[in-house]
Amino acid sequence: MPVVLRVALPVPLPHPFDYLPPASGTASVGARIVVPFGRGHLVGVVVAINAEATVAGHRLKQALRLPDPAALLDAELMQTLAWAADYWLCAVGEVYANALPLALRGTRPLPSIGEEYWTLSNAGRSALDTGSRRGGSRALLAVLGSGALSARELTIRLPAWRAAARRLAAAGLVERSEQPALHHPLPATSAPILSDEQDHAVAAISASLGQYQPFLLDGVTGSGKTEVYLALIEQVLARGQQALLLVPEIGLAPQTVARLRARLGVRVEVLHSNLAEGDRARAWLRARVGTASVILGTRSAVFTPLPHAGLIIVDEEHDSAYKQQDGFRYHARDLALVRARALGVPVVLGSGTPSLESLANVEAGRYRSLHLRARPGALRPPQVQIIDMRAQRLQHGMSPALLTAVADTLGRGEQALVFRNRRGYAPVLLCHGCGWHADCPRCEHPLTLHAHAQQLVCHHCDFHRRAPTVCPNCGSAELAAQGQGTERLEEALHNRFPQVPILRVDRETTQHRDAFAQLLATLRDDQPAILVGTQMLAKGHDLPNLTLAAIVSVDEGLHSVDFRASERLAQLVVQVAGRAGRARKPGLVLLQTHQPQHPLLRNLLAQGYAATARELLAERRAIQLPPYSYQALLRVDAAQRAHVDTFLSAARAALPANDNLQVAGPMAAPMPLRAGRQRGQLLLEATQRSALHAALRPWWLELRTLPSARRVRWSLDVDPIDLY
Ligand code: ADP
Ligand code: ZN
Ligand code: ZN
Repeated sequence: MPVVLRVALPVPLPHPFDYLPPASGTASVGARIVVPFGRGHLVGVVVAINAEATVAGHRLKQALRLPDPAALLDAELMQTLAWAADYWLCAVGEVYANALPLALRGTRPLPSIGEEYWTLSNAGRSALDTGSRRGGSRALLAVLGSGALSARELTIRLPAWRAAARRLAAAGLVERSEQPALHHPLPATSAPILSDEQDHAVAAISASLGQYQPFLLDGVTGSGKTEVYLALIEQVLARGQQALLLVPEIGLAPQTVARLRARLGVRVEVLHSNLAEGDRARAWLRARVGTASVILGTRSAVFTPLPHAGLIIVDEEHDSAYKQQDGFRYHARDLALVRARALGVPVVLGSGTPSLESLANVEAGRYRSLHLRARPGALRPPQVQIIDMRAQRLQHGMSPALLTAVADTLGRGEQALVFRNRRGYAPVLLCHGCGWHADCPRCEHPLTLHAHAQQLVCHHCDFHRRAPTVCPNCGSAELAAQGQGTERLEEALHNRFPQVPILRVDRETTQHRDAFAQLLATLRDDQPAILVGTQMLAKGHDLPNLTLAAIVSVDEGLHSVDFRASERLAQLVVQVAGRAGRARKPGLVLLQTHQPQHPLLRNLLAQGYAATARELLAERRAIQLPPYSYQALLRVDAAQRAHVDTFLSAARAALPANDNLQVAGPMAAPMPLRAGRQRGQLLLEATQRSALHAALRPWWLELRTLPSARRVRWSLDVDPIDLY
């Protein structure tokens, strides 16, 4: 019997494919392999060798070649990824492809992971001596005069050196080379003396090094969690092991990277989607060979190979950015736990506002919880006040009390944050003459007015059109912007405080790479300023002179039909509050609402997040919602409603009768029309995870065979975090 290779290919089919080995090379599990597929070829991953062929031997095609000398994915990753494909129901080949950095998904050879060095050639040395070059070229020659330097070092000494290097290399004056990555011990700053709580947390976690144990490190922003991570990573490094630190958003990374580097005195590999693909692949490969010992990254960094794993940390574990919302819909926090178990290492979930899922796991004894209650350096916790918006003269959504508080803050030379989770000028453009309002023709949802660009924009499908100056329905010129977005707040605050710099932070002002960090860098710590922004402002970056945080409205969170809305609102309020008064100045937090008596707000103010979360958990348990039940959501869309309905009925009928499974639907999605597509859904729920999963997999396989599936797009979301 011939040797058969089983190969996972990046195609949306549930099963791997069989091939005969290529003419040369020895295949190993986890290696990339190039195979013929259809009329072209594909790059897949070998998942098994000597498998029993699923088709007759003479019909097997031969693989073309093995591009790498060894496997890229190690046994642990292969096993974890197979588990993930099965759990989140994704084609296994797509899961393997997802785990590889983009630059490694094709057939290109592996990039070198040595360090890039530049030196003067003999001609370069004479050019330096004779001073024949000018400007940037001369500066680069001078810097290289005392010996070879790495690209990394050059970037620090001469930020725009690359252009000069290209010119000089073309003229034969400098030369590029690769050398094995060297360990550069950097000057390490010293750690502060840990508080008793920090000490206790570090001791508890370090006692578990070398074995699997999840911890929930519960402490608000500024309570010293990062110091705990640092102390633990130091221990991991001393054991010669690797530490992986996940953060929800890349905006948060630069400050943390700088801190890790300064303290640990080692190189920190950064892995996130804003990175140039080649750099990302090199960082991934350095982790794979173990030369990268500290790896920091966003969601997809959870796929980093860790041959010498020592510790995994998931910071801000409650953040929904950890959930991938299309394609392979995994949750990086949950996957981090699975990896920690497979690797036999502790995993630390850090948050000031832990998810109800994690709190339930603490309650069930699966996670150990550690608390940091005191805020080192802060005088006292910020004071939180509710502003009753009813019967107030609002100016662009802001009450007199809010504006006075901003004025007082600025008067003291301090900074204020005004939070509104909506970008643009106003969410609705309304005609006073006839009641017409601008709707997206493809979503039947109001268009957001962007006044500066004079555009109406759909935030669901990106539909754009010019904002009209008269009503298209009745010709009236009385078009009114209803509600407030960040752009409008910025304008209103600018009119009111014309002397004060205002920084708007939202998706529009931070479109390009590093924009967020650059914006914040313009902020002087010792000067008054106003920050206006969306969710992006709720976290990260220590702003020591920020003493006021105002949420323009919490009402949307109180009204939402989503059962997670209360949890999210409580988290948001606490996170925004965490921005105020981080240093030695007391902070003030203002919440504007039309429902000042709402029990959620009252509870949160009187008792804090932990008590509120306990109550929310009790409610979830009483009505059997996650985390006390398990869900999967089938989402469907098509150009025609009938196609959605037909598929959903067939899908419903394909479910076996099962007392352990509750099915809601078929029903229209909360947004029944989006980007011109009709949408519907079916929700499955079970009180046992095993019952849900036993039913899901055969169903998933059957769905793709339904004739009506060909006229729709569908996806299955296991443990969905929103029901849209
Ligand atoms: P978190 O990660 O929970 O937001 P950090 O670890 O960033 O908290 O700590 C907040 C601030 O307090 C930082 O400026 C940090 O340097 C400082 N800090 C933390 N722990 C201590 C300590 N034990 N002694 C002195 N300063 C500390
Ligand atoms: Zn009109
Ligand atoms: Zn739209």
